[in-house]
Amino acid sequence: MNIDVISVLPGMFTALTEHGVVGRALSTSRSNSRPTDSIDFRVWNPRDYTEDKHKTVDDRPYGGGPGMVMMAEPLAKTITAIREFRGGSDSGLDNKAYQAKVVYLSPQGRAVDQKLFGSVASENLILLCGRYEGVDQRLLDAEVDEEWSIGDYVLSGGEIAAMVVVDALVRLVPGSLGNDESANQDSFSEQIDGLLDCPHYTRPEEYAGMVVPDVLLSGDHAVIKQWRCEQSLQSTQAKRPDLLKKKD
Ligand code: SAM
Repeated sequence: MNIDVISVLPGMFTALTEHGVVGRALSTSRSNSRPTDSIDFRVWNPRDYTEDKHKTVDDRPYGGGPGMVMMAEPLAKTITAIREFRGGSDSGLDNKAYQAKVVYLSPQGRAVDQKLFGSVASENLILLCGRYEGVDQRLLDAEVDEEWSIGDYVLSGGEIAAMVVVDALVRLVPGSLGNDESANQDSFSEQIDGLLDCPHYTRPEEYAGMVVPDVLLSGDHAVIKQWRCEQSLQSTQAKRPDLLKKKD
């Protein structure tokens, strides 16, 4: 799986690549010494595909109004460079044959959720991060397959939204977490029927006068499984009854 991000602030992505399980998964994959099922992650700066000495990527909006708009040409050239790199001679692919979904992170897009991430977990992605007032509509019309939103609010740029997407996707790649079962037991996963996760406890057995439920100390795995399932249902009923309503 290749994930290519287009951003005028590539340095922001070190928050993702240099920390935690995602950082480890990405660096393992870059060094090619799996366990991951190969995630190649790169960030591309459209300023590298400009012609002028100021490396201009934005300009004033036609029709007037506040703010600036990201210009189509540097973004189109960046997408072409990604396609050439990915479909280059090493891969044996014709550049145009490089299959990737081009996604614009946008507050106007479809809301992302675990189901969407599950459905694209093995696809190549090109994630376009907007800034300023957004991107020239003609670039979106010509190049973008889908728009994805991380919620009904407006961020200053698409970078944090892209990091949300990459983090959620990397967790789904076999080998990226210490234990592949972890992702299967997380909230919203198909394996727990799209419900919320059960409560978790760790040492000490007693904290602030509260004790760990006896069942978790019983060592009876069948009973623990049943208890977790019930807890999962109760949490979902209490916190997200809408998830239960969608079910038979
Ligand atoms: N004028 C745009 C609008 O109202 O639709 C908002 C532009 S916003 C200030 C700058 C960039 O942040 C957008 O181009 C987009 O890439 C990103 N962005 C902002 N909110 C987002 C959200 N909720 N989900 C995903 N991306 C978002």
